[in-house]
Amino acid sequence: MNTRDDCVNADRQDPLAPLKEQFDLPPGVLYMDGNSLGVLPKAAAARASSVIGQEWGAGLIRSWNTAGWFELPARLGDKLGSLLGAREGELVITDTTSLNIFKALAAALRIQQQKLPSRRVILSERDNFPTDLYMIQGMIDLLQQGYEMRLIDDALPLEDALDDSVAVMLLSHVNYRSGQMHDMAAVTALAHERGALAIWDLAHAAGAVPVDLNGADADFAVGCTYKYLNGGPGSPAFIWVAPRHTKDFWQPLSGWWGHPRPFDMAVAYEPAGGIRRYLCGTQPIVSLSLVECGLDVAHAADMAEVRRKSLALGDLFISLVEQRCAGHPLTLVTPRDHAERGSHVSFRHPNGFEVMQALIARGVIGDYREPEVLRFGLTPLYFGYADVWDAVDILKDVLDTRAWDKPEFRQRAAVT
Ligand SMILES: *Cc1c(COP(=O)(O)O)cnc(C)c1O
Repeated sequence: MNTRDDCVNADRQDPLAPLKEQFDLPPGVLYMDGNSLGVLPKAAAARASSVIGQEWGAGLIRSWNTAGWFELPARLGDKLGSLLGAREGELVITDTTSLNIFKALAAALRIQQQKLPSRRVILSERDNFPTDLYMIQGMIDLLQQGYEMRLIDDALPLEDALDDSVAVMLLSHVNYRSGQMHDMAAVTALAHERGALAIWDLAHAAGAVPVDLNGADADFAVGCTYKYLNGGPGSPAFIWVAPRHTKDFWQPLSGWWGHPRPFDMAVAYEPAGGIRRYLCGTQPIVSLSLVECGLDVAHAADMAEVRRKSLALGDLFISLVEQRCAGHPLTLVTPRDHAERGSHVSFRHPNGFEVMQALIARGVIGDYREPEVLRFGLTPLYFGYADVWDAVDILKDVLDTRAWDKPEFRQRAAVT
């Protein structure tokens, strides 16, 4: 694609293009941040109004039964699970990704304590999303049993890091900063060969790349619904547990929603037989209900087509930036190899923060990640080839004119 017309033609032939109609996108915005906060599905406004007006307003407490509120975490979990290679009754939507990491990690360590009690290493990557590392550190502190965190980095590749002291490995399927993607099946197989359990964080993978949790033989998975799944700001996360571990899933947050009969009001906790044991307390029903609107659009798309387009958008973006912004100090930090790339593309620039603020001021919304990284999400359900062309046009202009070099673009807000 060498001209904007080529891009427009590609959009015309794109089988996913009609899905853009299902989203409410503000005019004048090229949204390249769907990997941080997805856009608003049109159905969500009507859904919010009926959940609030009918289910809450008119139904009141009766709606726990009559509007299916009680079943929502599992019902929507099944709807999401089928997109991720999970079978019915294996996945629930609940809590936050950070909390679900805590639960999965606690359960995985408990399982390993029964089988391989001397193992004391929790393995992750130096480059992993901070909350994953923080949750590991908090768990180690809480347990006080001599666990340690080991981090994979250039000096310590996965192959060497995964020795016979590793109890549990917690990795992101797609790296939040670089977009680098692991081969989940191959890495899980290696972990199992070395006796470790594999927890996968799918925050930047769910809805973005093909995922087959059972096919990959993973042990646990967690992830967000507010990124590529368009669930809304702070919408609840998900947790999947391989069926072979369900009955060993020890719930460290043993709240009443994980009890088989919460309304028995029994004094003693006991875990529900199936996936309800992954739940802790009362769910945020309004927010949880809206997750369904994003899932419905995801179900209308063929994941193979989403993947094909995501890679094509990424290839186009990389090649246009490299051709048209040549001469500017931009370094690609995302793997070019399709097998190793998720659905976002990142470039490093010495003034990355200011450049991103200037882009946002011009309507190209991506985000900035330390250090110096400009991160661009490519979301095939609502972003097209001409959008990529236009975004690169603006990036080129911002760089050529040094439009980023202004005091207002150096101001840092709480969220970048
Ligand atoms: C976005 C993200 C999270 C977010 O966790 P929350 O508990 O929802 O704040 C966790 N892990 C990864 C890898 C992420 O990209």
